[in-house]
Amino acid sequence: MAEAVTEASFREEASDFLEANAKLRVDEVIAWGEGSDKVGLFAERSREQELADVEESKRWRQKVFDAGFGWITGPRQYGGRELPAGHERLWQSLQARYDTPSSAPFGIGLGMVAPTILAHATPDVKDAYLRALYRGEIIGCQLFSEPGAGSDLASLQTRAERDGDEWIVNGQKVWTSGAQYSDIGEIICRTDPNLPKHKGLTGFVVNMHAPGVEVRPLRQMTGGASFNEVFFNDVRVPDDHRLGDVNQGWSVALTTLMNERAAIGGGSAGVAGIGPGRLMDLVNHLGRAGDPVLRQQLADIWIHANVARYTNLRAMEKIKAGQLPGPEMSIAKLSMTNNLRRISGFLTSALGLRLTADTGEWGTYAWSELILGVPGVRVAGGTDEVMKNIVGERVLGLPKEPPVAASG
Ligand SMILES: Cc1cc2nc3c(=O)[nH]c(=O)nc-3n(C[C@H](O)[C@H](O)[C@H](O)COP(=O)(O)OP(=O)(O)OC[C@H]3O[C@@H](n4cnc5c(N)ncnc54)[C@H](O)[C@@H]3O)c2cc1C
Repeated sequence: MAEAVTEASFREEASDFLEANAKLRVDEVIAWGEGSDKVGLFAERSREQELADVEESKRWRQKVFDAGFGWITGPRQYGGRELPAGHERLWQSLQARYDTPSSAPFGIGLGMVAPTILAHATPDVKDAYLRALYRGEIIGCQLFSEPGAGSDLASLQTRAERDGDEWIVNGQKVWTSGAQYSDIGEIICRTDPNLPKHKGLTGFVVNMHAPGVEVRPLRQMTGGASFNEVFFNDVRVPDDHRLGDVNQGWSVALTTLMNERAAIGGGSAGVAGIGPGRLMDLVNHLGRAGDPVLRQQLADIWIHANVARYTNLRAMEKIKAGQLPGPEMSIAKLSMTNNLRRISGFLTSALGLRLTADTGEWGTYAWSELILGVPGVRVAGGTDEVMKNIVGERVLGLPKEPPVAASG
């Protein structure tokens, strides 16, 4: 019988691997005026730089997977180790101490697409993609939103029509993060337009390199292009790439969305990694540390960041105890976006016109990139208003919103 992997033996194994393959992170001490003053919420980089970064992330992920840390909780059949979630958390906290390539390119594929494949795909599709996703050989994206279907996802219009052992997909998706470097996508299509809107949908895994798939970048106002429009023109998808039963795609989509909220909420840590220290440096530099309005705004940011941190910890404890976190994840996301708005307000009060023209002054205009990224975070993964509806109805027990009448 194999020896049990205790947390202590796992810690030793993981520490040995990290020690041998990565360098300890030297916390970046930002001295005013030194180094890069870049602060943004989305990656703003050239396509060449992006591809180089993705390749580096893939190489690291393969090394990690081959050493047994790529899918710690996953089934052995697909290269996982079937260890408890506590081992996974331990690995994450140990890895965070080291300077390793970004895991961001895998966020959607591993956080949302892979769990849906595990829950709903055919055995052949699980064999074909799960190990490859976790080993970083391929990347997955989420093809849900359309020009006429975002918050009201069930209104989507991309069609899939059956043709023997295949389906033919036609339509358009939008805001697809990372489609430009993805190999597969989870797509929800309308397969029966005569059924009520939640009932005529089916999920599929689609090959992003198949003939008829066209990815067009969307440039965001901060300069980069992290999102795309994706067009499907007579794209053929084998029937064995279907997720779940025909016309049962809504429950497939819900599996993905539950994982999405958990991924976004759990990682938010209150202010998306912007520490009050950096904001204090700014007021000191501006000579306004005594300004009562700025002091009040800073105190507010600090208090709410801590409230958000404790709410997140509570949700994580619930997961640890085997319960499903529901509305907590909506609260976590809402706390993060509210805090980002507070930070934007503080920066606007502190910097004023310095935010609108780049005079070359270090640590001033650079903050405009962060401010321009905040609206995107407020919309991604469920808008603030939709999160408030969830909290209002499921936490506070308020009456449900009346359905909106279709406009003529
Ligand atoms: C950074 C980013 C990354 C994204 N990545 C992906 C991705 O990878 N894959 C993908 O499929 N999609 C992605 N999206 C799309 C995202 O899921 C949608 O933008 C989101 O669901 C909102 O849909 P919408 O843009 O169509 O806005 P709408 O749903 O049209 O909303 C417009 C406005 O109406 C409000 N509203 C809508 N319904 C209600 C209601 N019932 N009550 C009160 N107010 C309401 C909204 O809050 C919003 O202010 C991404 C979006 C962003 C910003």
